[in-house]
This record gives sequence, C-alpha cells and structure tokens, in this order.
Amino acid sequence: MTFRATVLTLYPDMFPGTLGQSLAGRALAEGKWALEARNIRDHAIDKHRTVDDTPAGGGAGMVLRCDVLASAIDAVADGRPILAMTPRGKPLTQARVRELAAGEGAIILCGRFEGFDERIFEGRGVEEVSIGDYILSGGELGAMVLLDACVRLLDGVMGAPTSGEEESFESGLLEYPHYTRPVDWEGRTIPEVLRSGDHAKIAAWRHARAVEDTRLRRPDLLERHGGATRSSPSGARHEDWEDE
Ligand code: SAH
Repeated sequence: MTFRATVLTLYPDMFPGTLGQSLAGRALAEGKWALEARNIRDHAIDKHRTVDDTPAGGGAGMVLRCDVLASAIDAVADGRPILAMTPRGKPLTQARVRELAAGEGAIILCGRFEGFDERIFEGRGVEEVSIGDYILSGGELGAMVLLDACVRLLDGVMGAPTSGEEESFESGLLEYPHYTRPVDWEGRTIPEVLRSGDHAKIAAWRHARAVEDTRLRRPDLLERHGGATRSSPSGARHEDWEDE
C-alpha cells in the first residue's frame, strides 16, 4: 500500500515544492508515496470560475464556497481521511502524524482568503487541522508540513530504521541536545559524559536532559503526557569519542 496524498488548492504549482527535495523528494521519485495537487478552481460552476464569495453577515475578505469545495472533494474521495488546513483546527501532533502515516494517505484542503464555508466540514466529514497558533496566508505550507512529517515515517524513507524513535515528542519529551565535532569550538566544549564511552552513563545523561529541558521549555508536554519518563535513549551508535 502506497501512501497517497491529494492536495486540493488554488495553487497546484506550489507542489511538490519542498516535498520534491531531499528525503521526501527522493521517496517520491522512488514511488514510496504519491502526490497529486489539484486545482479547486476546476470545480467552479460558473463561467467566471468563481471559487469564493463575500462573508455572510458582512466583513472583510472572501470565503471559499462549500459547493465548489464539495465538488473538488467528491472527485477524489475514496475513503482516505479528508483534512482541511485551518488555524481553527485541532493542533497537529506527532501522534496524529503517526496515525496518518500508517494509513492510505490523505486528501488535504488548502484554504485561502478568510478560509472555508463552515458547512463543508460536517457536510463532507472533514477533519480540521492547525499547524500552530499563527496565521499563514494559505493552507499550502500547512499541507506541506503535514505531508513532510508523515512521509519521513513511511517504510524505507528514513535511513536508519530506529532514527525516528528518540525524536522530540515521540516519548512525550523533547529530545536531548546533540553535539558533534569539533570537540572545542570557540572555547565551548562538548559535555564530558558524551565523550566518556560509557553508554549507560550517556543514556542516563540524555534522558535527564530530555526531562529537564522539557520541564523548562515545554511544561505543557509533561502535563499532557502525565509526566512521561519512559524514554530510554540508547546512545546506539557506538562511536569512538573517547579518543578525541
Ligand atoms: N480567517 C482565518 C484565517 C485564514 S488564513 C482565521 O482567522 O481563522 C487563510 C488560510 O491559510 C486558511 O484557510 C488555512 O487554510 C491556512 N492557514 C492559515 N493559518 C493556518 C494554520 N495555523 N494552520 C493551518 N492552516 C492555516
């Protein structure tokens, strides 16, 4: 089963964009996932190809019409989850990304202007997704964020099969900090323990830093995960830092 993404947008030429490069781009070229960007405007029903109209009740901006959106959705709906990018949606989490990546893919609606006619969400069983508490000019970057996060989890996409397991959020914690050569940079050195070669000590230090940094930077994460302390960083790649 290949993960298939269909993006409904007024700017299909924005795709694949960043998703055509690096990890996601390589996986796309290798057929490990598929991406189709379709123009919502192709589903306009009048001769001017109108996709939006003024807000009921007055006010600034334009609203994407639900009849046009529905027609765009109906042309591709096949059981995959239908998502809409909107700052009013549920904030995207790594847990939701994992679920989506384990499925058949997604149909993603990208808003523009003031956003969508509210009726489309119930009318077509659309899940509203936000990528954070700020306002973008359109949903395309949000769709790319969501797809990038999914694609890196697909089978065979990421280099080492375990390299995703200790990432921030996977255990309800931020990840521990990383260092690499040079050992001394402008008088700042790499923590001694990471050069000790003692893998149990390294794992303990990493776990302690993950917990401590999460407490300081993102206490909301600890609260949400009931003070998670399950992560067991492995220090898996046994390199020769002792000799430096
Ligand atoms: N009037 C809306 C914002 C519209 S911004 C409001 O205040 O809620 C235009 C489009 O950009 C939205 O329809 C949505 O598709 C996208 N967008 C903006 N911010 C976003 C965010 N934080 N998460 C996901 N999509 C966002």
